Amino acid sequence: MNEAARARGHVARRRFGQNFLADPNVVARIVAAIRPQAGETMVEIGPGLGALTAPLVERLGHLHVVEIDRDLIARLRERYDASRLTIHEGDALDFDFAALAGEGAPLRVVGNLPYNISTPLLFHLAGFADRIRDLTFMLQKEVVLRMVAAPGTAEYGRLSAMLQYRFRMGRQFDVPPGAFRPAPKVTSSIVRMVSLPAAELAAKDEALFGRVVAAAFGQRRKTLRNTLRDLADADDFAAVGIDPGLRGERLAVSDFVALANRLAARQSASSSATGA
Ligand code: SAM
Repeated sequence: MNEAARARGHVARRRFGQNFLADPNVVARIVAAIRPQAGETMVEIGPGLGALTAPLVERLGHLHVVEIDRDLIARLRERYDASRLTIHEGDALDFDFAALAGEGAPLRVVGNLPYNISTPLLFHLAGFADRIRDLTFMLQKEVVLRMVAAPGTAEYGRLSAMLQYRFRMGRQFDVPPGAFRPAPKVTSSIVRMVSLPAAELAAKDEALFGRVVAAAFGQRRKTLRNTLRDLADADDFAAVGIDPGLRGERLAVSDFVALANRLAARQSASSSATGA
């Protein structure tokens, strides 16, 4: 069935970020980037009318999908036997991805994501990184540029630092608006994220690391001395060799980790001194 026939009768819903892939060459390139292998445990977020779903089911034998739109779910149910497609009806932002990761079979996650929820969804997924092998997503190009940005660039921010801490990131290729129905206003990009081994995650207290990163980028134009005033003092900056007169965007992920680890060590020293 071609894409026009598949879409017949469905009115794209803007509130669900529905822009359906309609270019078979782009679909083939995305599937090649994913490299699905039979038997892998994979979940697709937002299958929509099934442009990626069909070749993925074909190659894997079985696929999980998470979809919020009931009309689209009804179409998928008609088209696929439950033994080949497990449909999880609901909001990907609330979905427990850990429940799909089987024993010793880390999950692969893919999708042409609804752009209106992409940043919160990426943070939600980062919380399951220890159960996920890799993620391949289509997103708005500007968001992908922020995800892969290097320190010192205008695009580098909280999203870059938090994702690069957990994943090896790579931008693959761009997809023009004309590849979708309806066409979005923006260019899209494919990004691949591969979970780093636990041994490479050096933050001793990840919640504290997250707080340091969030505070450092909370007010982009201010120096670290100001943005981290409630967390770090001059001795802390000196101990890790970071100039407090810099802005957060100058720090590498490893700098944030070093600073957070210094603060964690100081907190645990002071709580053991007070017997807390
Ligand atoms: N994968 C299809 C394609 O490439 O043609 C559709 C992509 S479309 C950009 C995004 C899909 O995500 C739609 O099917 C939409 O209904 C679904 N969606 C939107 N918000 C969602 C959410 N919060 N949770 C799960 N799916 C969602």
